[in-house]
Parts: sequence; structure tokens; C-alpha cells
Amino acid sequence: MKYYDKLIFELSKEGRQGFSLPSVTWPDSLSSLPSGLMRAKAPALPQVSELDVVRHYTNLSQMNFGVDSGFYPLGSCTMKYNPKINEEIAAHPGFAGLHPMQPAYSVQGALRVYKELSASLSAITGMAEFTLNPFAGAHGELTGLMVIRQYHISRGDTKRTRIIVPDSAHGTNPASAAVCGLDIVQVKSKSNGLVDVEDLKPLLDDTIAGIMMTNPNTLGLFEKDIKEIAALVHECGGLLYYDGANMNPLVGVVRPGDMGFDVMHLNLHKTFSTPHGGGGPGAGPVGVAAHLAAYLPVPRVVEDEGGMLYVEGCEDSCGMISGFMGNFGVLLRAYTYILMLGRQNVRMVGPLSVLGANYIKESLKDCYELPIPSICKHEFVFDGLKDKSTDVTTLDVAKRLLDYGFHAPTIYFPLLFHQAIMIEPTETESKETLDSFIEIMKHIAAEAIADPDSLKTAPHTTPVRRLDETTAARQPVLRYSKEV
Ligand SMILES: *Cc1c(COP(=O)(O)O)cnc(C)c1O
Repeated sequence: MKYYDKLIFELSKEGRQGFSLPSVTWPDSLSSLPSGLMRAKAPALPQVSELDVVRHYTNLSQMNFGVDSGFYPLGSCTMKYNPKINEEIAAHPGFAGLHPMQPAYSVQGALRVYKELSASLSAITGMAEFTLNPFAGAHGELTGLMVIRQYHISRGDTKRTRIIVPDSAHGTNPASAAVCGLDIVQVKSKSNGLVDVEDLKPLLDDTIAGIMMTNPNTLGLFEKDIKEIAALVHECGGLLYYDGANMNPLVGVVRPGDMGFDVMHLNLHKTFSTPHGGGGPGAGPVGVAAHLAAYLPVPRVVEDEGGMLYVEGCEDSCGMISGFMGNFGVLLRAYTYILMLGRQNVRMVGPLSVLGANYIKESLKDCYELPIPSICKHEFVFDGLKDKSTDVTTLDVAKRLLDYGFHAPTIYFPLLFHQAIMIEPTETESKETLDSFIEIMKHIAAEAIADPDSLKTAPHTTPVRRLDETTAARQPVLRYSKEV
């Protein structure tokens, strides 16, 4: 509570300041500004010393939980470590000082990064071409669906306005499809968590634009019928979209392009170690098979025979989906990460993330309900505590974890289980960290029986306790006072 008390305390003191600027004489040109645009009085900024500011922000940073402060096993989110060399490269003046309106000849290095990162992503995924322009995973989904729509329209196949989405899909899949103007058709999962091929077959006809699949799906399970599904969907004239936000366990092992996917997106802010949380910035590059390359968005980077790089449009493109060419600083970080690992170590990413997830799953399955016991990929789902005799819920377990210095896993998603706890450790954590997480999870399961109240009232050690999370997300109060 200490820091929170400080936070609501008004630090501003009339006349106190943490800087001194030289006095300014305005150039004549400014006096001709329209009077409506001229500020009549000084802005109501807090008046504080440098020390006040430093302490304020340092305290604020300590009230939060980040991947730099502790283990963050958030399923479907891949909170892997963000290497600090990424920041160093992104802050290099040769990159950070660029302006998006500079002529191509003066930004050859940046365009080269764009081109080489695209090529690396192609090698990792087996897709022929990439655009790096989309700003997020969901933005990539929309872009990929626009490519699919453009493909059908360009062939005069205008009836294909329906897209198949599994019931286990991430919520952004149906949302992106709806934004793209497609009608959503749901395909069911079987009790083993995989897409039901028998349920899929009758849905396939000449109105189907394609199917959106996540593999491994949101339960962390590999869709082993993917080859058959790909053949069925292609046979009916549809295309396969791959939601690669959670590509992590496949990196270096299998490639969506080889599974039969035509279009996909990646989340660089998950799989490729760039920071995320708080809404961005992110990057959701979209890769396509060769026959769809013409429909990718513009602008694009192309190379002439002399090795000069240019930015250009393309007639068949699905259009422009972002200003300029994406979040360049994020692209740089992801490219740094790939180069830092190198070809050999990139191959270790997938297997290590899978090993860690299965290690936790097997270590905790006596204390937590494991509805799908098979080998998982990078993440898995518990359905609450094994002992159902207490009224301790998944929410209580998640809140109690905070007291022990761990971020909570994803809870109540996927919707297939009522008390879902979805755990994704990622490959960047040590065995010691996994072991202490396992120990605390076991301890919490024991507490649920011996002292359920300590869970019901958790967290006890955080700056704020249980919040109204919906209102906090929907109506955040981001200003410290009404005046400012
Ligand atoms: C995170 C995620 C997305 C959405 O990515 P954003 O960058 O948050 O838009 C889509 N699909 C899956 C499976 C994800 O885990």
C-alpha cells in the first residue's frame, strides 16, 4: 500500500522546477499563427523537482510486473525474455534518427534490414514472400484475409464470402474476419481438443473463402490432421490461413508452408522476443505462398539488378494497411534476435519451449486437473484444482501466485474449460525458475485445502488488491488529476 499512497499524493508545488531553459524570443512568423491555435495560459503541468520525477517513475515501475522482474507464464502470449541487445540496436542513431519521408537512396540500410528480415521469416516459415507492414497480430490477420479476398475476387470468384474458424480459435480470428466483411462458420473440436474433420467436411462448398487455423491450437496441441484438412479445403477452392502468433514451439522444427498453408501471420512481439504488453507497439508480418505474392499490401521493398532497394506499389495489391512500412523499431529488434541466435540456435527455440511446458504439466498434474493429458507443445491447460471439494477458483490461484512473485498464467481462456489455467513457460527460463514455480503451485494447491481464505483474499502483497478488471480495461483513468 505504501507506493499506492504515494501515487495519489499531490507532488506538485507552485514554482518548483526540475529544469531551466534559456529565454526565447519568438520569431515573427509565429505571431501570425491563428489566434485560436495560440495558448493563452501556460499548461497545467505538475511543478516538481528532478528528484520528485525520478522517484515517481521509479516507484511506478516497481508497482508493475514485467518479464524483467519475474517469471511470466502467460499462455497464448509468449512472454519470453526481451534481450537487451535488441534495444541497443534499435536505439542506434543510424536507425533511430531516420525519417519515413527520406528518399530510398538515403535509407538503403533500413530497407536492407526489411528485405533480410523478410527472407529470414520466409526461411523459418516456408512462405515465399512477407510483408512487414502490419502493426499487430490481429492487424496481420486482417491483412492476410484481405489477401485471400483479393485472390478470390481477382479470379472472378465472388461467391466466397464465408470463412471457417474452429471453436478453439483466439478471439481475434472471428473479429478480424468480421472486420474484413466475411461471414464466420464455426467448426467444432473433438474431445481430444483437435479440429473435428468430420464436422468440417459438410461445411466445405463454393462459398468458402478459406479456413483460419492455429497450429498448435490454443490448447497447445498439434493439429495432426492438418495435411488432410489442407487437402479438403484446397479441393473446395478455399485457402488456408495460419495464425502464427504462437509459432514459438514450431520454430526450427516444422514450417507452416510445408503443412499446406497459403497465408499466415507471425507476432514478432511474441515469438521473436520484442517487448509487448500495454497495447504495443507490435508487429504482425504476413507471409504468403508464391501464388499470392501479388496481393500483398503496399508499399513493398524491391531490389534492382544493381542491388539498389526501392519502395513501390503494385496494381494487384490488397491495398495499404499501415502508414509507411510498419513499426520499424520492432522489426529491427526481431531481426537482431534472429541474427543473435543464428541458424543453429534458432532450431533450439521450439524444442526447449515444448520441453519446459511438458515438464511443468507433468510435475503439477497430481494437484491440478489436466483435461487433455497428451504431450503438449509450448503451452497447456489445467481445468482448476484437482481437489474440487473447496470453493477455491482459478481466479484465487492466479491472485495468490502474485503474492509469491510470479505473474499469473492466462485464466478462463480458452473457453472450452470452465476453470482454465493456461501455462506457457517459454524457452528462455532456467530449470531453477521452472522448479520454483512448480513448488509454489503445489504449495498453493495445499493452501487451498488447509487455508482457503488466504487464497480467497489474495493478493496480499501487491500495491493494489483485487480490482474491477473490466472497468479498469474499458475505462482506464490515465490522468492523475482532472485538470491536466
Ligand atoms: C496474441 C494472439 C493473437 C493477436 O495478436 P495481437 O498482436 O495481440 O493482435 C492472435 N492469435 C493468437 C493465437 C494469439 O495468441
